[in-house]
Amino acid sequence: MSVKKILTEPNKLLRQVSKSVEKVGKDERALMDDMLDTMYDAPGIGLAAIQIGVPKRIIVMDISRDEKKKEPMFFVNPVIKNKNEETSKYEEGCLSVPDQFAEIERPNACEVEYLNYNGKKRILKADGLLATCIQHEMDHLEGILFIDYLSKLKKSMIIKKLSKIKVNREIL
Ligand code: ZN
Repeated sequence: MSVKKILTEPNKLLRQVSKSVEKVGKDERALMDDMLDTMYDAPGIGLAAIQIGVPKRIIVMDISRDEKKKEPMFFVNPVIKNKNEETSKYEEGCLSVPDQFAEIERPNACEVEYLNYNGKKRILKADGLLATCIQHEMDHLEGILFIDYLSKLKKSMIIKKLSKIKVNREIL
């Protein structure tokens, strides 16, 4: 298990559509272990494989925010089966969009079908933060970032800021 580098916007890889996983085997489990380490190290509550440069439809999450009682969740090939018409707003952030936050409106509950760490089919009924987080992470699988929901002006301001930070980092 190891901590990987998290890609940040702007980066073309983050805009790629991730591919379905055929079978949850040793390689996929090793990837999920690395993703979990990377997410806890960051720290964050969710991470998609593409954020460490792997275009597979795999997500890890832990919304418990409890150091002592970790509750990792693994989602392979997640598909949203149902979503509520009612929406809620959360202030979202993203490990690939460092230090930027914005209120995003999404369905406040959804049902997700996926394969778990052992490759078993499962259905999750999510609401609240869990529903927001899974929808945010599933967007990553389509190459979508939360800033895409903002106005063009706001989005371009954020990308400009992030590009500047990147250039400065390279100079140092
Ligand atoms: Zn994200």
